This record gives sequence, structure tokens and C-alpha cells, in this order.
Amino acid sequence: MLNSPFSSVPIMGIPFAQTTRVQFVNHLQNRIDAHQNTFVITANPEIVMYAGRNPAYHTTLLSADYISADGIGIVKAAQALDTPLPERITGYDIFTDLLRWAETNQKKVYFLGAKPAVITALAAKVAHDFPHIQVVGAQDGYYQDETAITTAIANHQPDLIFVATGFPKQEQFIAEHRHLADGLWMGVGGSFDVFVGAVKRAPKFWQDHHLEWFYRLVTDPRRLKRQLIIPQFMWKIHQLKHKRD
Ligand code: UDP
Repeated sequence: MLNSPFSSVPIMGIPFAQTTRVQFVNHLQNRIDAHQNTFVITANPEIVMYAGRNPAYHTTLLSADYISADGIGIVKAAQALDTPLPERITGYDIFTDLLRWAETNQKKVYFLGAKPAVITALAAKVAHDFPHIQVVGAQDGYYQDETAITTAIANHQPDLIFVATGFPKQEQFIAEHRHLADGLWMGVGGSFDVFVGAVKRAPKFWQDHHLEWFYRLVTDPRRLKRQLIIPQFMWKIHQLKHKRD
């Protein structure tokens, strides 16, 4: 993050870019236009906690050019540590902002990740909604051999490469292969599922009552283990603050 125009806010050893969504996306667009190789990570409390337990993944995170605060938990932690971040910048927001911009600027995009039915639906939706984007590849995330993927990326030189295989897989893939094309490489987690509507947001009642997390938990109980990491994260931040004060 040597050439970053943004100052950074460290949270448990992970440097978050101190910027707004508009500033950040503009900056990324300039870098894409200049064909600068760029690795963006959008990190939430789960990712920060995972990096704390996995030194190799921690090193991968530090190799990114920018890390954005994906989740209100990160923004709250920054506030608690008296080094506030201006706002939450989610992976999904950056993804959709960049798709709209790629349409206007006729950029080349490679999509990697999600289930076969989701990536097929995504390719159809992009062709319909953003006809000027050049889709140079749309490959599901359940591949056995990555050679076909890396060869296609090297041959097509996409301006944007979105990898939606979930963490830590997506960041490891990008760190290993980003030298293949001087574009923007970004891990976007479950964004393809949301984009095509395979994963629905909670009905309005639950959203209005700030209970979307509870709705997701009840409809997908496998999330319980993942959501339990958030109180652990907040406890760690509390301890850090206490030690420092
Ligand atoms: N995924 C994938 N390959 C894998 C494992 C997961 O493409 O080997 C996809 C999965 O289908 C989903 C996305 O990765 O579309 C993100 O999964 P997850 O639910 O972990 O996302 P998050 O909740 O972290 O955004």
C-alpha cells in the first residue's frame, strides 16, 4: 500500500483505507484506465479474525493495494479505537459501481465464481443490462483445474477481474495470479448470488426492524457459526482499546 493516496487505519494489524465510496471507486477507475495492476480486498470482521489465526492469509491481505471496510463491525471498531473511518464500503457496492462504469467505458471483464447456474444467469444479466461490457470469461467457482482460467485471463487481458469464490480462496487465487493481467482484481464473496437474485434480501419488515441478520440466520442456520465471530471480534477490539487507554 506504498502508493496509496489514502491514509490507513489499522485494525488488528489490517490496514483499512480511510476513504469514501465515491473517492475510492473514482481512484480505482483511474488506475484501471492507466492499466495499473491493482488488488482490492473488502474485509469484514470475519476476515480480520481469520487473518489473526492464519499468518499466510494475513500476509496475503497485506499484499493487497487497498482494503476497504466491508461491514458496520469494522466501522464501529475504528470508531471505538478513536481512528474513525468515513463509511462502510461493501464489496457489492464497489462491484455494481464498477459494472456501471465498465458499461459506459466499454471495458473488458472476467467473472470467476459461484455455482454454474448462478454464473450462467450472471452472464445473461450482464449481456442484457450492460451490453457494452465485453465479457471475456464467465466461469463458475467449482473448477478442478485452474489452467483454462489463467490462460483465458492472460490471453484476454481483462480490465476487471471479479473473483467470487468466498474468502480465503478468492484472495489466495488473486495473490497467486494477479501478475497475469494489469487490471483490477477484486474478491467479491457472495456478490454474484445477490446480483442475479439467487440470494434474496430479507423482506422489508425485517430490514426496517434491523433484524435482517436474524432473518438470514433463521433461513440459513449454517450461518450461526460464522455470525458468532462478530461478538468475539468486538471483544478483541474492546480489549485493544482497554490496553491502550
Ligand atoms: N464459492 C465458489 N467456489 C467454492 C466455494 C464457494 O465459487 O469453492 C462461491 C459460492 O457459490 C458463493 C461465493 O463463493 O457464490 C461466496 O460464498 P459465501 O457464502 O462464503 O460468501 P460470503 O457470505 O462470504 O459473501
